[in-house]
Amino acid sequence: MEFKKSKKAYEEGIKYIPGGVNSPVRAFQSVDRDPVFISKGYGSKIEDEDGNIYIDYIGSWGPAILGHGNIDLLDGIDEIINNGLSFGLPTKIEVDMAKLMVESYPAIDMIRMVNSGTEATMSAIRVARGYTKKNKIIKFEGCYHGHNDSLLVKSGSGTITYGLPTSLGVPEEIVKHTIVCRYNDLDDVKNAFEKYGEDIAGIIVEPVAGNMGLVPADKEFLQGLREITREYKSVLIFDEVITGFRISYGGASEVYGIEPDMACFGKIIGGGFPVGAYGGKREIMEMVSPIGGVYQAGTLSGNPLAMHVGYRNLNILKDNKDIYDDLINKAKDLEEGINSNIKKLGLNITMVRFRDMLTLFFGKGPFRNYDDVQKCDTNMYAKYFKEMLNRGVMLPPAQFECMFLSIAHSEEDIEYTIKANYEALKAIK
Ligand SMILES: *Cc1c(COP(=O)(O)O)cnc(C)c1O
Repeated sequence: MEFKKSKKAYEEGIKYIPGGVNSPVRAFQSVDRDPVFISKGYGSKIEDEDGNIYIDYIGSWGPAILGHGNIDLLDGIDEIINNGLSFGLPTKIEVDMAKLMVESYPAIDMIRMVNSGTEATMSAIRVARGYTKKNKIIKFEGCYHGHNDSLLVKSGSGTITYGLPTSLGVPEEIVKHTIVCRYNDLDDVKNAFEKYGEDIAGIIVEPVAGNMGLVPADKEFLQGLREITREYKSVLIFDEVITGFRISYGGASEVYGIEPDMACFGKIIGGGFPVGAYGGKREIMEMVSPIGGVYQAGTLSGNPLAMHVGYRNLNILKDNKDIYDDLINKAKDLEEGINSNIKKLGLNITMVRFRDMLTLFFGKGPFRNYDDVQKCDTNMYAKYFKEMLNRGVMLPPAQFECMFLSIAHSEEDIEYTIKANYEALKAIK
């Protein structure tokens, strides 16, 4: 494989864009390699600038659930484009989209569109604070909710109980209102409520954590969060930016049978366009301007083109729910094949799957929280990633991410991937 054109784009890119990329993981730093630049995608495949073709297991981190360039999704898009791209005035498709999402996710009565997952979580915690008139937010170590100041936090040392910023430029004063608890550890949450319960506006949680590698929550954990937030009149926010319409049409809420007070969406709902959304119970969402006192706005929010594509994407998923069984079956095949390779090679690594999401952890489980996943051998993952890339398989370029499938992934794709996995693991053993 040649990577000349990618290399050239990268060398040019780093002059004008920090790290040459518009989101850090794309720089391939965690896998110790220069990034490849993608020129196009079709079905389950993506092609780079040099014409190398890969089976894609990133899928734009979830949105490409129908595969790249899906005809049903894109048919007739020209007409929508010709009608104008953006008006800064309301359009009917925004109402259609809101209605569909509210009908699809029973926990929420109203919804507001934004442009990214980051905006969705930022707005949701503002609304939770405005609604409860309380200040503190609980988040969990290892969960990612976008790059909002108040959520870029890790747990503090033993002497301090509030979180510490994980990024320069975030004042400690801001994250003092963020309490960081351990994922899947209800006692930790109970302790936080005993101490600060009167001032806790809400809990934000990835009901299936997908940003420390795949770490599903225990049902009892989520149930416990549901109960304690009711008891203290705090708002339970499910961050379903990855899981919503992905692990099931009704997201993690449907899979676990637990209804949050608010939910955040992104990734899948735009079908590849920059879209996010946050919704909640009517009483909570009526806090949002112009009818309530919590300010939140967006020039391009509810962009007609993005709404049309997102709306179609969700309708295709809604009308073809067997898509989810298909994705889960493919994920199971992949899991079984890779597990069998691991066994044959006698390796101490762990395949984790939840519904259609997967992570191959280079370490021994169980993986229940951030501390557990930190024990993985990220250098080994980097080697594995490169071996797979050279065999035409595009995996997430970091250990602590998930693999995503699409309906376009064929049995041959899965078989090829399992075979490549065996060779790659053997090569780095
Ligand atoms: C990706 C992600 C976000 C952030 O969404 P952006 O669109 O990248 O801002 C928030 N929460 C979760 C769970 C995510 O996976």
